[in-house]
Amino acid sequence: MPASLFSQITHHRPFVYQMSDMKFIITMLIVGTALAVAGVFENAQPRVYRVVLDPGHGGIGSTDIESFGDRFDLLSKRYLSPFAEGASHKGLWEHVLVHEIAVKAKALLDYCAPGGDFSKFRHILSRYTDEEPKQIFIETTLSRSDSKNREEILKRKDPNAEYRLYDFPGENGTILPARISRINAKKPHLVVCLHMTRDYSSTYRGLNPVIVAPHSILYNGLLYLQGGIPNKDFFYKSPYTDWFQESNSKNSFHWFLNDVASYFTGYPLDKQGKLDLQSFKGYRYNMVHWAYRDPPGWEEKARSHPPDSQYANDITRFVPDGKFWKREKSIFENYRREGGEEGFGGDNMYATSEIIRYILLSLHLRGEGHPHQKLTRPYISTWSVPLLVNAVTAFIELGSLANQRHRYLFTQKQDEIAEGIAVGVYSLLSGITVKKNAYPYTPKGKRIELERYRSTGGSSYFDEVAE
Ligand SMILES: [Zn+2]
Repeated sequence: MPASLFSQITHHRPFVYQMSDMKFIITMLIVGTALAVAGVFENAQPRVYRVVLDPGHGGIGSTDIESFGDRFDLLSKRYLSPFAEGASHKGLWEHVLVHEIAVKAKALLDYCAPGGDFSKFRHILSRYTDEEPKQIFIETTLSRSDSKNREEILKRKDPNAEYRLYDFPGENGTILPARISRINAKKPHLVVCLHMTRDYSSTYRGLNPVIVAPHSILYNGLLYLQGGIPNKDFFYKSPYTDWFQESNSKNSFHWFLNDVASYFTGYPLDKQGKLDLQSFKGYRYNMVHWAYRDPPGWEEKARSHPPDSQYANDITRFVPDGKFWKREKSIFENYRREGGEEGFGGDNMYATSEIIRYILLSLHLRGEGHPHQKLTRPYISTWSVPLLVNAVTAFIELGSLANQRHRYLFTQKQDEIAEGIAVGVYSLLSGITVKKNAYPYTPKGKRIELERYRSTGGSSYFDEVAE
């Protein structure tokens, strides 16, 4: 729906009362239709924002890919990757800690749920703002349940069923929705992914945003691989040079090109820089239930990898056809991934950085300061969750399990981290005027302009992600 209507409804409606009766009736009809289509308002109550907290991992990593794997490929009918079980160190597990923090953050955000006790959230907010906060409604869900009891999980018929990212076959062979599909089914406005690393990397020491690169730079990478761009300036002069390096033996541009090849064709590069036809990683956008899959029967065409199509296995003959590639070029993906408040990385980068700042401020307000508590360099790549949802996605590496200070925060300061996440989510959806503070990581307090994601017919990009 148009932005003007949106803001009128969520705040007051003075302009409506000044209009003639006829105009008033017509306006209300339009508003009513838009609301019915979008399904975001109930009985003229303020909109309910949908938030998914996504604590990473949870399942069992195993070399038995046939039973435990992820990335089920509909062409070969097998899993292409081992399940990523996440970081562990000194008896601490990433999948346990991020889930504990997510549960605590949800408990706080539930004060903002319809029927929740908002006065309790108002009390929390009084630490961050002097203004009287506006009540908004937030419906918060978790993407998975807890994963503490490994023995119990291993007894299940398919231990990783609840934890996989990508759709997978059930007992009778029907394809079941996995984590990304289940997130999309909820049509969230905001997704918050929580992770921790294991490795201690001094250049990345702190809390890191994890962002998916905009289509424009990935497309330039494709043109480079196809011989259409002669030099690497488009990469090195961009804000996206902090590319995630799988190892330090090769530079960031190498890993960028490798990810470009996989993102477009499904194949990584071999040592000669050609598509590695032995290491197919699959068409990820066809591994989830959502609006951008290729039409039924696509597997037949894809199996022969015909040139001049989106299934070509010769990069010079790759053509990005189909709904997913149209989506990638869309203005909405540009809003999510390019430019924005932080100067790059779009709303995803802003949402991620902002929640990190609230976490750091929450700790700071409790006197918990340390040089290793800082917002630092992003990890940039073509990460699955932020790539394959329409929601604005805050993907946070909370720190490193190999770092003693971070271990202290992860185990002793979960409530403070959870408060930062909850207040950050509220601030991104509602906006708050943050108290003046000399702290270098004071949040901006600006809300995300979700109105930009409205589309034709009164619907929104968030609603359109799935049936
Ligand atoms: Zn992780």
